[in-house]
Formats: sequence, C-alpha cells, structure tokens
Amino acid sequence: MERSVLVLAEVKDGKLRNVTFEALTAARRLSEGGRISAALFGQGHQPLAAELAMHGADQVYLAEHAELDRYTPDGYTQALTQLIVHDDPDVILLPHTAIGKDLAPRAAARMGCGLISDCTGLEWKDGEPVFIRPIYAGKAFESRRFAAGKWFVTIRPNNIPVEEHQSSHGCREIPFAVDIKDLRTVVKEVISKSLAGVDLSEAKIVISGGRGVKSAEGFEPLQELADVLGAAVGASRGACDAGYCDYSLQIGQTGKVITPDLYIACGISGAIQHLAGMSNSKVIVAINKDPEAPIFQVADYGIVGDLFEIVPLLTERFREM
Ligand code: FAD
Repeated sequence: MERSVLVLAEVKDGKLRNVTFEALTAARRLSEGGRISAALFGQGHQPLAAELAMHGADQVYLAEHAELDRYTPDGYTQALTQLIVHDDPDVILLPHTAIGKDLAPRAAARMGCGLISDCTGLEWKDGEPVFIRPIYAGKAFESRRFAAGKWFVTIRPNNIPVEEHQSSHGCREIPFAVDIKDLRTVVKEVISKSLAGVDLSEAKIVISGGRGVKSAEGFEPLQELADVLGAAVGASRGACDAGYCDYSLQIGQTGKVITPDLYIACGISGAIQHLAGMSNSKVIVAINKDPEAPIFQVADYGIVGDLFEIVPLLTERFREM
C-alpha cells in the first residue's frame, strides 16, 4: 500500500545529522512507492536539499524563517503542524533526538494523531509495517502497528543502516511560508559538547567513564583514547553525581540512550539503569578491576584490571595502528 511520508530533517552545525538519512531510508521502505517529502526548518539550508534528494526525498520543503534557526517548542510545533496540514502525509518521521523527543508528542497531540516513539527497526508482518521499539529500559522489544489516521514515528539514531537512493521523480524544492506567532522568550541557550567534541548520540565509538575514574582528571586518559579513535566520551551517572563530568554525558535510563558500533566502559559497574542506555551497542568492551562486576555479563570483551594502566596501553597501541 502506497503511503506518503514526511521527514523532518535535522541540521547541526550546518550539516544534516546522520539520523535524518536513517529516517529517509525508513521512509522509503515505509512509503512502498508513495511520495517522500523532507522539510528543512531555518534559514540558509537550501544547499542541503540535494543531499536529501540523494537519500530518496521527492520534494524538499524549505521553511526559511528567522524563528526556526534554533529549536523552540512552540515555533517548531507551529511550523510542523502547518506543513502537515499543507502536505497531508500519512506518516511523519522525526529523529528520536532531543528535538524529536520534544516535538513529536507536542505536534501529534496538537493534531490528534498517534505516535510510535523510539523505533529501532521496521519489519513487515501480514503485508503491514511493524515498528520495533525497546521497552522496560531495553529488556524487551515490542512491535507496534499503525491504526487508522495519520501517525508520527520517531527513529532512534544508529539503528537503521543508511541507503542512498536518488528519487526517480527528481527532487523539487518548495519554499514554504510559515506563520509563527506568540512565541515564548528564550532566556538562555546552553550548548554542551561531549568532552572529545564528538556528538555522543551519533558517535560510532563511545568511551565511557564511571565512578572508577575517581576524579575529573581521571577522564583525561579516556579523552586521549577517544581522540585517537575519533570517539565521543560518555559517563555513568555515578561519575556525573560525583562531579567528575557534566550530566550531558550521562548514559542510561535517565541519560542518553546510544547504539554505537563500539562501547568501552571504564570503571563502570554495570547497574541496570546504565545498561538501559548502552546495552544495544554492537560491541561492548568492559574494563573493571572487579571480576564480579555485572558489566562483564553484557560485555563482548572484558578486561579485568586497573583502567589507569589499561586505557593508556590501548591508546598507545591504537596510535601505532
Ligand atoms: P559504581 O557502581 O560505584 O562502580 C564503579 C566501578 O568502578 C566498580 O565496578 C569498580 O570495581 C570499578 N573501579 C574502581 N576503580 C577502578 C579502576 N581503577 N579500574 C577499573 N575499574 C575500577 N546510572 C547511570 O549510569 N545512568 C542512568 O541513567 C541512571 N539512571 C538512574 C535512575 C534511577 C531512578 C536510579 C535509582 C539510578 C540511576 N542510575 C543511573 C544509577 C545507577 O543505579 C548506578 O548507581 C550507577 O550507574 C553507578 O555508576 P558507576 O558504575 O560509575 O559506579
């Protein structure tokens, strides 16, 4: 069955986030030949439209408005709902990022639509698309189907392999005028970066430190390893609570949920709330001096020993490669 799908593209530092291409890949499968639209909110993004076309968009809406240059819940909700009324898609796909997590339920509620959030996979059963999403902090997975009407879906980063696919219809760029009013005032904007400067939620490799790093300085060897591997640095809540690093690095049930190709846990015990944020990583390496630490139960590779000896050795070896 053909479906029209609208994907909200997410731009960070002037570039499209990879999860946008994952959402377009999902959109292409979901559309079954129907129209795929993408939307770029904010000024000066027109040069990015070609990349969206390369990943399957048949048309790209350019909503160039100064109030959309940065995310505000009411500005984006107004713009997205106006676009949905205009484009009338069957499905609206958003990345499951800080923006998507905030915007999708707002816009879905405003429009009286259903929402399937935090999807990690898409399958077909009885000819119908079925979305896979983790529940109970990642201990189980459930399958969700659409009911009647329009649906919002958010896609968790790093789960759907990106496929390039030039639209066979050619891509149209459509300026879309939005009417934004009654915005609340933004008092302060805080932009935090991962220690190594790599975006934690989309990083292919993450090096995380726990209470075992013992101090803020204890993160330095981890950051050196991250620099060599082009990785992001993350942390357990234990390390954040102890004041060794910022809460923006926290991984887990009440922090970020990530799915990197490689996760290296250093001095982290492996509490269930931490596992909820990283247990779907493709390969897990644990470094802990306690051989009984629960993190070893989920690790593919375990190293029993002192992280302050092992991490510098790894850095040295990777530097030689
Ligand atoms: P610890 O449990 O103290 O473990 C430190 C580990 O370091 C130990 O295993 C020790 O053997 C090892 N170690 C010490 N020195 C060294 C060394 N030199 N070399 C190698 N290993 C060493 N936690 C999260 O991480 N994320 C969450 O989102 C989260 N949400 C929570 C939500 C709720 C509602 C609650 C109640 C808790 C939550 N927690 C969360 C906290 C969680 O339960 C744990 O307390 C926390 O994960 C422990 O952090 P840790 O592993 O760094 O510290």
